Amino acid sequence: MALIKFPNAYTADMAISTGRNRFAVIGEPIVAVDLIDTVAAPGSAGGDLLATDGDAQAWWRTEGARVPAGDLPDLRALRRLRSALRETIEALVDGRLVPAEAVSDLNFFMQSAPASTRLLLTGTGLDAQRQWHPEYGGNPRLAFIATQAAQFLSDPSKVRRLRRCANPACSMIFIAVNPRRSWCAPGVCGNRARVARHYRRTGRG
Ligand SMILES: [Zn+2]
Repeated sequence: MALIKFPNAYTADMAISTGRNRFAVIGEPIVAVDLIDTVAAPGSAGGDLLATDGDAQAWWRTEGARVPAGDLPDLRALRRLRSALRETIEALVDGRLVPAEAVSDLNFFMQSAPASTRLLLTGTGLDAQRQWHPEYGGNPRLAFIATQAAQFLSDPSKVRRLRRCANPACSMIFIAVNPRRSWCAPGVCGNRARVARHYRRTGRG
């Protein structure tokens, strides 16, 4: 499956496309939002960009240096984290109570691979490094995504920036760093809306 990359004017990052209807936005301020956008919500067009191990490997490659190095997690664990994040973030966007089970799942991922700070002597002073602990049985990549999300989602001023794409047929959620942003990817949903307006105006299509 070829990944097509195209620029996203608002985030200066990119989206990956795997067909006519399905794409993922890459480069949202927290990896958790990229992750939840790999699956379309029920009833919307598209499928799952993490359907197979090969899909997951491609997705981890696009996240690259944003996540800790080390072993890739089991695909089922990655999808379970995604479900917990999707439930949590959608509840926050819609102003609903966050389901307790989703919160306990996120806590599980963080506790199972905690991080500590390690000081290293350098030639001129000290360097502080974050060290992840897979010896507790968890996966540092998943723990990192959950921890980064926990810090973001517990800050109401940041939660206010979470938005659903203005295209009603699109299930993407994004972080509006630029408050004028209304599309997950202006080159995709924004273009579709412009084309639809054009056809309405000209009476074609
Ligand atoms: Zn969209």
